[in-house]
Amino acid sequence: MRTSARSLRHCQLLLMGSFPSSKPYDTRDHLDSLVVDGHSREATTRSTTSITMHQLTVESDPPNSIEYAKGRASPAEAMHSHENSRNLKQVIQQWTSSERLSYSIELIPKEDFVLDLSRLNPQPMFCSLPWISDNNLQYQRFVDTPMLKMTAKIVPHCSVMNHISCYNITETQVDKFVEMGNWNLFVIRGDTVGENQRFKHSSDLVEYLRSKNNPEMTIATGGYPYVHPESPSLDYDVKYLKQKVDLGVDFVLTQTLYDAASYLQYVDECRRAGITVPIVPGIFLPGSYDQLETVLNLTRVNPPADVLAMLHSHALDEPDVFEAFVVKHFVELVRTLRQERPDEVKLVHFFTFNRLGLLRKVLDKIADLF
Ligand SMILES: Cc1cc2nc3c(=O)[nH]c(=O)nc-3n(C[C@H](O)[C@H](O)[C@H](O)COP(=O)(O)OP(=O)(O)OC[C@H]3O[C@@H](n4cnc5c(N)ncnc54)[C@H](O)[C@@H]3O)c2cc1C
Repeated sequence: MRTSARSLRHCQLLLMGSFPSSKPYDTRDHLDSLVVDGHSREATTRSTTSITMHQLTVESDPPNSIEYAKGRASPAEAMHSHENSRNLKQVIQQWTSSERLSYSIELIPKEDFVLDLSRLNPQPMFCSLPWISDNNLQYQRFVDTPMLKMTAKIVPHCSVMNHISCYNITETQVDKFVEMGNWNLFVIRGDTVGENQRFKHSSDLVEYLRSKNNPEMTIATGGYPYVHPESPSLDYDVKYLKQKVDLGVDFVLTQTLYDAASYLQYVDECRRAGITVPIVPGIFLPGSYDQLETVLNLTRVNPPADVLAMLHSHALDEPDVFEAFVVKHFVELVRTLRQERPDEVKLVHFFTFNRLGLLRKVLDKIADLF
């Protein structure tokens, strides 16, 4: 397995929001602390955080210039996901109409990750898979990307929603990705915007996808309870979210959330603006204080000062104390959200970084809500 400078660069944008392109960022230092390399190693301490960078990068040096074949995807590239897509429509119907809480998870596409969903009880409603920078665009065939390889493994067990980023993607590439049967899409802009890229905002890509008139397609997009770092105000953000939703978004997933009040205020603001689709709280469970700091930096979220101070007060916790804090804090967060807005909070989405053990501890403590 070779790792090129180019493939390292492709990993600079990781899942739920990254960092300003103007800000130098050593991904090796930071990403190493985030993902677990297989289910047997749970990252619960600062020192045991695992993976080496090459495990997060592409399997081989990608070709530099790819011409995607025109026309429909060949049978070899078509996937199982047509069933998957229909399934997600039903899944949404299931959690929105249930009186009980449901949850979903984000996993990092890694070829060597042994996914054992039977470890989770109850089962997640769906799994989402992030799109890392323009990594997927470097492959001759999408079907060879770690993301779609992992999709194929998960689909027999659980519905999958693939993230798709506007970053450098062309219409032809979007068409190809969709023609393969990837109809459950989480559309994001990416933190870097190329000067000449076709889709400048995620609303542009939502509009393009909806213009194809595929009623089976599910589209979700991101929301920012702490306001998107480039937005001058919450009003501004919500105005553009409304525009995006009106173009055909089925539900909104929020950026990492650390307190209930900010979500409640955000949801109220969105409802006042006329946004009616579900707004699902996104929750990151940090495996260590370092991971928490890394994700706060990557996502550039700006929680209220007292929330940040509370999080920072755990900087010197021993690993087991920190884990106990994480479980208690996020269990309370989910409970408060449910209590305050039972009709609003029907699903919570956990950014797991493949640490299913920590997730399980949280699920155990909210088992009565499911
Ligand atoms: C749950 C979640 C998952 C994510 N997963 C990934 C991932 O897999 N890969 C990845 O690279 N990134 C991911 N991101 C991060 C995302 O790419 C960044 O947050 C990015 O900076 C913004 O993406 P967006 O789709 O919200 O952008 P946009 O909707 O385009 O919004 C970006 C900014 O522009 C403003 N805006 C929107 N539309 C317009 C317009 N028409 N005119 C002017 N201003 C406008 C918005 O208010 C906002 O300030 C994720 C984010 C979330 C919340």
